[in-house]
Amino acid sequence: MLTPPAAAMPVPGHIDPVPVPRALPMRADGRVDLLGLSKADLRMALETAQLEPKQAKLRAKQLWHWIYNRGVTDFSLMTDISKTMQPWLAQRFVISRPEVVEAQVSTDGTRKWLLRSDDGQDYEAVFIPDADRGTLCVSSQVGCTLNCRFCHTGTMRLVRNLTAGEIVGQVMLARDALGEWPSQPEGRMLTNIVMMGMGEPLYNFDAVRDALHVVMDGDGLALSKRRITLSTSGVVPMMARAGDEIGVNLAVSLHAVTKDVRDEIVPLNRKYGIEELLQACADYPGANNARRITFEYVMLKDRNDSDADAHELVRLLRKYRLPAKVNLIPFNPWPGAPYECSTPERIRRFSDIVFEAGISAPTRTPRGRDIDAACGQLKTAAEKKSRAELDRLAAEKQAALG
Ligand code: SAH
Ligand code: SF4
Repeated sequence: MLTPPAAAMPVPGHIDPVPVPRALPMRADGRVDLLGLSKADLRMALETAQLEPKQAKLRAKQLWHWIYNRGVTDFSLMTDISKTMQPWLAQRFVISRPEVVEAQVSTDGTRKWLLRSDDGQDYEAVFIPDADRGTLCVSSQVGCTLNCRFCHTGTMRLVRNLTAGEIVGQVMLARDALGEWPSQPEGRMLTNIVMMGMGEPLYNFDAVRDALHVVMDGDGLALSKRRITLSTSGVVPMMARAGDEIGVNLAVSLHAVTKDVRDEIVPLNRKYGIEELLQACADYPGANNARRITFEYVMLKDRNDSDADAHELVRLLRKYRLPAKVNLIPFNPWPGAPYECSTPERIRRFSDIVFEAGISAPTRTPRGRDIDAACGQLKTAAEKKSRAELDRLAAEKQAALG
């Protein structure tokens, strides 16, 4: 028997460098949504609609500019595209925006949007203005499967991944609301993005990666990777890929320094323990003193806030030689939450211990608490209502029982 030539053998671990065409996001009306497509997929969408490859290349370039530089959603406003071509495009394509169910503004200027997808799923985005920057907190999933005990999002029953278009859509919508078209490099309000809304971004890796590539593209929204931060609760196997394929700043939701406590508050710790997580941080590409990894630490009264916890945190960060900064997050309460926030004195003491070891440890000021926009408070109105309904039903049952 002849042995097959080596070239025909599958190479273990080989990654095919040829991009595999993905199904285009077709809507119920048969039109394809261009928002969130990569440059290559945008071109492919035009070729699939029977444009000549050369034409498709040119039109894709023009469309990219109109979509991401000018914020235009109406083909008839694209002045360098011919009057006959405009309706042809409109028949086949749309440039979507998420439907806004509710827009709220906090007394501190924080804005929150409740958004609804075509299939009726709700998710949220939050904009936090500061003196020197404006940060958009973007969701990657509807709900979250990870059930961290202190996080309201983790109690949502419905979970689905957002598409790249829905993730990019949050940025486009914020730009619309802030009146920031055309895109310009200087003086804009939306300067930073944090993947810290609903969901675990590394459980929706492909869509988050594709969306962030669109957001970082220099011909469009052009946000630098240094102004984007991805926060993970510690999905260790995806961290190296996040560094290689996305390359943005990393934030890690550490929250505890002992196995017992972290197992309780971040259940994913039972799968990927603290030491494994810190090793993955040490290996994260591009982490150095100029680009430190942020360790998020939610301050829970009498759970994770002792002096001993602070000293252990310092020991662990040193052991792995991590270029680190620690972000202390006062726990934001929500109805029925099983924890309380540490006292301000306790938080200060904890911060001082870490700071005295040479690691910066600021406390994050809670923003938008009055509109439930602060960290961990995101849970959509639809879900809240169903909880309220459940409570009402429970009360009725109780009353019936006498
Ligand atoms: N799933 C990712 C990103 C979204 S959560 C992650 O967990 O990292 C963004 C941050 O808010 C995380 O650090 C999370 O632990 C924190 N957080 C969640 N609930 C909170 C609450 N109730 N109070 C304060 N911070 C909270
Ligand atoms: Fe999910 Fe992050 Fe909330 Fe944990 S803290 S439940 S990972 S959104």
